[in-house]
Amino acid sequence: MTNSIHPQQKLQNFSIINPAKILIGILATVPWSLGLPAAALEVQVIPKNPRLGDTISVVISADEQEQISNPTVTVGDKRYPTFAIAPRKYRSFIPTTPLEKAGARTIRISEGEQEKNLAVQVSDRQFPVQRITLPPGKAGVQATEYELARAKELKALQTPEKYWNGPFLTPNAGRTSTRYGVRRYYNGKFAQDYYHRGQDYAGAEGSAVISPAAGRVALVGRVSQGFRVHGNVVGIDHGQGVVSIFMHLSRINVEEGDFVKAGQNIGAVGSTGASTGPHLHWGLYVNGLSVDPLPWKSQEID
Ligand SMILES: [Zn+2]
Repeated sequence: MTNSIHPQQKLQNFSIINPAKILIGILATVPWSLGLPAAALEVQVIPKNPRLGDTISVVISADEQEQISNPTVTVGDKRYPTFAIAPRKYRSFIPTTPLEKAGARTIRISEGEQEKNLAVQVSDRQFPVQRITLPPGKAGVQATEYELARAKELKALQTPEKYWNGPFLTPNAGRTSTRYGVRRYYNGKFAQDYYHRGQDYAGAEGSAVISPAAGRVALVGRVSQGFRVHGNVVGIDHGQGVVSIFMHLSRINVEEGDFVKAGQNIGAVGSTGASTGPHLHWGLYVNGLSVDPLPWKSQEID
């Protein structure tokens, strides 16, 4: 008699576990690993100490007993897509940019009845500043509606498939000429919405441009089609909300719809579009925002 479980006891156990589940939503900023008995989901945030321009990776996983489907990730009123990366494992990317304020972000993760708030501290970063003097009446080259529409379409892609694998490669052998995130003053006035949305490499005219990671060619645009600012341009969809754009090319070696491998030659450095000399501009966009590509080269986001 002593070894059998009483119906009453079962009920008690059940009622002990349930309030713990409710507590998960209340215990904000307490890591799951503290071991609440009913908390089967685990969340990992990478990097531990992000700074402006970094991509924050939120990995949500469940142990073998737990079913998990389509968790949601939100920050404020913005919801970020989650994609399956392994059985019972999902990931969401939260882009940050120089236009944001440093400080705490609350990341809310919901899955079924479970909800979790994680506080992440995003630290400030000093971006280099350029002072540009424009002669009166000279506004520079204006982009066409067509190129703006095509670029917008590329940056909005959130393909469920994941094409890349491992750290990204450097797309051109030239030295870095302008880094990601540079801010500007025009004629002494700070450009609030401007930051350099990519990394520039001062490769020689005609030098090879390789794809930093595998993907599908989602955009091929040429000056003759109205790409006045971008110049000859290639856009690559790496999947799961991550896309690359390569601007000012002299030559393009791929077509829209092609699948490319990491390291594959996609074109050559040039000075087409709004450019003052041969260089490659590589922009990396995550869920529509331009992030610093460099962490993607040094850190494996598998
Ligand atoms: Zn650039």
